[in-house]
Amino acid sequence: MTVRSIQEVELSGKKVLIREDLNVPIKAGEILNDARIRATVPTIKYALEKGASVILMSHLGRPDEGVPISEQQEASLAPVAKHLSELLNNQVDLMPTDFSADSAAKLSPGSCVMLENVRCNIGEKNNSDELSQYYASLCDVFVMDAFGTAHRAQASTHGVAKFAPVACAGLLLSGELEALNKALAQPLSPMLAVVGGAKVSSKLMVLEALAQKVDHLIVGGGIANTFLAAAGYSVGKSLYEEDMLAKAREIMRLTNIPLPSDVAVAKEFSESALAEIKVIADIAEDDMILDIGPETISDYVRVISEMKTILWNGPLGVFEFDAFAAGTESVAKAIAENTGFSIAGGGETITAIELYKISDQVSYMSTGGGAFLEFVEGKTLPAVAILEDRNAG
Ligand code: AMP
Repeated sequence: MTVRSIQEVELSGKKVLIREDLNVPIKAGEILNDARIRATVPTIKYALEKGASVILMSHLGRPDEGVPISEQQEASLAPVAKHLSELLNNQVDLMPTDFSADSAAKLSPGSCVMLENVRCNIGEKNNSDELSQYYASLCDVFVMDAFGTAHRAQASTHGVAKFAPVACAGLLLSGELEALNKALAQPLSPMLAVVGGAKVSSKLMVLEALAQKVDHLIVGGGIANTFLAAAGYSVGKSLYEEDMLAKAREIMRLTNIPLPSDVAVAKEFSESALAEIKVIADIAEDDMILDIGPETISDYVRVISEMKTILWNGPLGVFEFDAFAAGTESVAKAIAENTGFSIAGGGETITAIELYKISDQVSYMSTGGGAFLEFVEGKTLPAVAILEDRNAG
């Protein structure tokens, strides 16, 4: 099934309500990373240029539902509205909570306003029909563009799409779905997945789904430690999950998982810890594996260079500490140099991509963390499913 794109909908003179993911890190009123805000600009500009009046909505953080924004100012979208005004070169005013269908009707074409944090509204989280109908009453066209929250069935992501006169996908959401389908539905082979991070348990379903799909699976970080332990190696004091060993062995039977032959270890988990390179058979009782070693890096770089499709989520080591960043940096750069199709997603992964300045060389960077992983697991994203239903019916 397909979703209708904003490009297939008449927008001129219409009130267009767009659900964006403007959930950015803010400290003392300062936006620390505006990547998610920048990602929303093409859809908003598109609607404005087509002569729509635009109403934006998003969540920000985890405020208390039913508590007015005046009592939880840290959850206000005010800094986001200000920053977006600059990016769009078009004033974006934040609307009071009594913003109604009548207020929406008074907006002129080409104007853009923003509702306050949807998570303060009673009924948002449990996807209440009443709140969904209120959102729908504000618009002629509802545009879902928040891929990062598409895995949540809430009033502003799912319910509103049931009741809005027209419901479609924005440019960002359409782009995400297209890139993910390209990587997962019809991948050019050979295909590689790189899954790093702290714990097998938090990525078990992703690992299982990918192991059935890919030709090679490179595991990294604490996840690799669990696989090393499952293969019978001693991992000393390293982060690993004893209760995941049987699962790791099952996954190893499904696909080709090249395990590290050498690693960077430390005696303590600290920024100032010294890295020592050891072959995997030499790990001592008090060693902690915090990165892959140079021989493993060159093996992985070679595998990466031979792939036509690469999907990446999660760091290969504790890349926040300079002494243990080489694995993540080298793998990131090898993915960047690969001329096939590469897609990366997840918070830490995007941080690494920005740190190593390779965002232009990765074919697609997903804005979703949880939504990206759930899509890769093969789950239906509720906010996408409702758009498909609306398109079909
Ligand atoms: P995740 O959220 O599961 O993707 O995990 C990301 C975190 O895993 C990063 O903050 C890394 O510092 C951490 N990490 C990666 N490798 C290791 C390791 N070998 N030991 C402990 N933590 C690790």
